[in-house]
Order: sequence, then C-alpha cells, then structure tokens
Amino acid sequence: MSKTVLVTGGTGLVGKALETIIKEKNANQDIWYFAGSKDGDLTILSDTKALFDKVKPTHVIHLAAMVGGLFHNMNNNLDFLRKNLQINDNVLQTAFEHGCVKVVSCLSTCIFPDKTTYPIDETMVHNGPPHNSNFGYSYAKRLIDVQNRAYFEKNGSIFTSVIPCNIFGPNDNYKPEVSHVIPGMIYRMHQLINEDKDTKEEEKVFSVFGSGKPLRQFIYSIDLAKLMLWVLEEYDQVDPIILSVDESDEVTIAQVAEAIARAFNFKGKIVCDTIKADGQYKKTASNKKLRQLKPDFKFSNFEESINESVKWFIENYEIARK
Ligand code: NAP
Ligand code: GDP
Repeated sequence: MSKTVLVTGGTGLVGKALETIIKEKNANQDIWYFAGSKDGDLTILSDTKALFDKVKPTHVIHLAAMVGGLFHNMNNNLDFLRKNLQINDNVLQTAFEHGCVKVVSCLSTCIFPDKTTYPIDETMVHNGPPHNSNFGYSYAKRLIDVQNRAYFEKNGSIFTSVIPCNIFGPNDNYKPEVSHVIPGMIYRMHQLINEDKDTKEEEKVFSVFGSGKPLRQFIYSIDLAKLMLWVLEEYDQVDPIILSVDESDEVTIAQVAEAIARAFNFKGKIVCDTIKADGQYKKTASNKKLRQLKPDFKFSNFEESINESVKWFIENYEIARK
C-alpha cells in the first residue's frame, strides 16, 4: 500500500537530506510532503490541524523543532522547553486524530543524563537530569518518548523516535547566534578567510569556542536520512533507537576545527577561547541496537563529509541560512 508521508521540519538540515534521498529512491511512488514553518506554525494547534487536513498523511516523520547549538540553548531554555512541548503535542495528537499509522520523531543524544555511565544506550533516556545548558530542549524531547508510549497504550499506534548524535551537512543553520558547532565554525572560518583581504591568511587566527577538548559523535545528514527512511519502513518498536556513528568515531571539537580548516585550505592559526563554555564534556552513545538490526549499513567518511559540507556552503552562500 502506498503511503502519504508528511515531513514536519522538512525545510531544515535533516528534512532537506531526506528530500535528497527520496528524490533518488522513491521507487514505489509514495507521496511525500516536506513542510516548513511557511506551511503552518506547529506551535499553533489550528495551523497544525490545517496542515494535516491538507496533506492527509498516513505516516509522519516529525522533525520540526526549535533547534540550536550550545550557546542558543544556554540563553533560551524557556523557549526551547515551551515551543518544543507545543509543537510535539500538536503534531502527535493531530497525527493520532488523523489515524496516522506511524510517526517517527526525533530526539537527540544531548537529552541523556549528564551524570551517567558510558556508553549511553536507549534504556537511559529518563535516568537523571540532562546537562544544565539545555534542560529545556531535553525535557521537551524526553516527553516525546513518554507520549509515544501513551499513544501506543491508547490504540496500539507505532509512534516511535530516533536518537541521532550531532548532525551536520548541506542546508544547515549557519546563523552564528543559533548554530551548532560545525555550521558555526564553517560560517566563521568563511568570514575570516574572506574579510580583511589586506591581512595575509597565515596571520589570521581562528578561534575555537571553549577548550576544544569535548568529545562528540557526528552523523552526516545524508546517512541519517537513509537510516530514518529505514526506520519508517522497517523499525516496528515504540522504544527509541540511537542513530549514531560508532563510539570509535568520536572526535574532539579541536579535531573538528582542524578538519574544517583542511576543507577550506585555511593557512592561519587555530586557538581555543577557553573563556567560552564547553557544554557537556561527552555524550558517547552506543549504536549496538542499530548495528544488530542493520549490520550492513556503511557510514560516510567524516573528513569527506566535512569537505562536502564546506563545498555546499561556499557554492550556496547566497541562499544559506545565516
Ligand atoms: P533545523 O535545520 O533547524 O530545521 C528545523 C525545521 O523545523 C525547519 O524546517 C523549520 O521550518 C521547522 N520549524 C521550526 N519551528 C517550527 C514551527 N513553529 N512550525 C513549523 N515548523 C517549524 O533542524 P534540524 O537540524 O534539521 O533538526 C531536525 C530534528 O533533528 C529536530 O527535531 C532536532 O531536534 C533533531 N536533532 C538535531 C540535531 C542537530 O545536530 N542538528 C541533533 C540531534 C537531533 P523553517 O525552515 O520554515 O523555519
Ligand atoms: P552540543 O553538542 O549540543 O553541545 O552543541 P554544539 O554543536 O553547539 O557543540 C558545542 C561544542 O562545540 C562546545 O564544546 C562548544 O564550546 C564548541 N564550539 C566551538 N566552536 C563553536 C562554535 O562556533 N559554535 C558552537 N555552537 N559551538 C562551538
């Protein structure tokens, strides 16, 4: 049976990656609708209902959220909590009322308890307080898992969630005050290289926010899109599943800066601005469940994906969100 799939947040980093994959792969002629905030403000129930009435989805990939990096979260916990609670409640309840057979929502590895044992796995989502820097976002996201269980109890619908590690790729959000580390660094390095043409590049200094020591796992948005499609089509549990690269692929923030510098062929110096916050030191997640269910999946090479992302930003500078 063919599906009608509504992708909320369909204009963002992950939504655009999913659109790319669907264009390549949609052999069975399912109908896909990629909605952005222009299609309706999902914090508003009447807008949400109007969107569902228009699209009439049988399936939903729910990506829409207030999203941002460490510094945006630190300054806006109340907004992250309230907007995401509103969006999630409106989307899940409206999907339920429309009889959608499956909803796949997006959590994040940054919502896990701050004080924990490693590696983190799917059973630990509710174990203890998240890192203080992003408690608003984290509690709103954790509640999706609670909502999913309640909808399953109510009528057996498969409302489920994925837990990606940090994501990057084309079409990211490069706004300095909002961005995650990779788009933030890409934007700032591009600015540094292109401004002040009178200064030699060897004399320019790129600043890594914080100590550069925190560890992160990064998934390329195209890989995540492929995995989310697999979750939509084949994963049948309400319990969440971590979608992350291996633990051995964890890198330091300083290594990320070096990879971005290589992609730009940046000749200047890289320093760490230790006055700025580090956030969570690490959130090392296990992808054992994913590896067991999908042993053949191959992740893209990190360095090559960084090169692709930098290339995309340079080529699409005029249209990039910045
Ligand atoms: P993004 O690039 O910031 O895109 C956010 C999307 O949500 C956009 O399509 C945006 O629409 C839409 N949106 C935001 N507020 C909305 C509202 N009130 N009404 C309707 N639409 C709204 O985010 P992303 O990085 O693709 O994130 C996708 C999902 O992955 C999110 O649920 C996020 O929490 C999760 N996640 C992200 C990361 C990461 O590193 N980026 C890591 C783990 C999990 P407009 O473009 O029209 O504004
Ligand atoms: P997180 O993974 O949820 O903590 O969020 P981010 O993607 O914002 O990563 C934050 C880590 O990257 C922290 O250790 C920051 O100090 C460091 N960082 C270094 N430079 C930047 C930057 O330009 N933007 C952001 N957001 N973080 C940076």
